[in-house]
Amino acid sequence: MKTITLPRFNDMHVHFRLGQMLKNVAPVTASYCSRAVVMPNTLPRPILNADDVIWYRDEINRALEDAGVSLGHFTPLMTIKIRDDTTPKMIHSAVYAGGAIAGKVYPKGVTTNSGNGLTSFKGIGKTLSKMEDSGMVLLLHGELDLERTIQSEWEAAFLPQLEWLSANFPNLGIVLEHVSSAEAVQAVLDLPDNVAATITVHHLVLTENDVIGTKIRPHNACRPMPKDFTDRDLLLEMAMSGNPKFFLGSDSAPHHRRSKECAEGACGIYTAPILPSLLAETFEEHGALDKLEAFTSRNGAVFYDLPLGGEFFPAETIMLVEDPWMVPDEVDGIVPFMAGQTMCYKLA
Ligand SMILES: [Zn+2]
Repeated sequence: MKTITLPRFNDMHVHFRLGQMLKNVAPVTASYCSRAVVMPNTLPRPILNADDVIWYRDEINRALEDAGVSLGHFTPLMTIKIRDDTTPKMIHSAVYAGGAIAGKVYPKGVTTNSGNGLTSFKGIGKTLSKMEDSGMVLLLHGELDLERTIQSEWEAAFLPQLEWLSANFPNLGIVLEHVSSAEAVQAVLDLPDNVAATITVHHLVLTENDVIGTKIRPHNACRPMPKDFTDRDLLLEMAMSGNPKFFLGSDSAPHHRRSKECAEGACGIYTAPILPSLLAETFEEHGALDKLEAFTSRNGAVFYDLPLGGEFFPAETIMLVEDPWMVPDEVDGIVPFMAGQTMCYKLA
């Protein structure tokens, strides 16, 4: 039987939510990751400051303990949401008292729970300088819903802001999250090494046709929307290139079935249950299994200056075995990505 052994993953962008959903989804990611960057756009309590960070980390660790996950194997990496009212003082305490490693900007209104997102980067210049000085990484939902701009162009519309940030804060670590377009990939390649990008597994396999082609498939809907074949080809090339600017951020984003199958369905795809299987399959299909480790377990850690789990702790690996299984139609009320389809590899 064929097997693949990899260091435990670093998932540099994941949504754990709160309450029962947190209890359901966090153990799934912890089963194959050594760490994950946990997004702060939780409801009803968003993560905005050091107190929130400390509270949310406890909630996550309690959920994992309740599920029997040994905390020695998984560390949640905490973030705060950067808004117009985030002050340099809040950055300082989030980093030094809360241990937060990144701050996330959602431009106002473009994605799930971004109603009170940021209106202007120029308005928070001092806050961004403080992030730069404290080594806090800036995570960007890089879309801008400019007037009379079609949604497929929102990512391209954001790129001048990325360039402005990179030029004005040259020592700030900046991650353009879930890149989806050739324009965004090119911008990241052209900017200095402090600018990197995460890539999701769903953007490696979907195009816009899989969301609004002959059928409307709400469980494939996400922001940014998957784009054209040429965009997807370039994302595959970057993920499999070994280039340290590109690493895994699954953006696994669970929503209850009822929030997806309705008149105003939520954007976000729950990929956590199939992430290792689908990545292995995708990389293998393109003859790039030897590049999977850099993408899942190395490049992200290097960008964040974190120790490399697999190298330093060889026991900290996961094994995938070739053993076809069908992705269930529903897990805890959530329809997972690729529901009803067969995966070749299973997590041992
Ligand atoms: Zn996200």
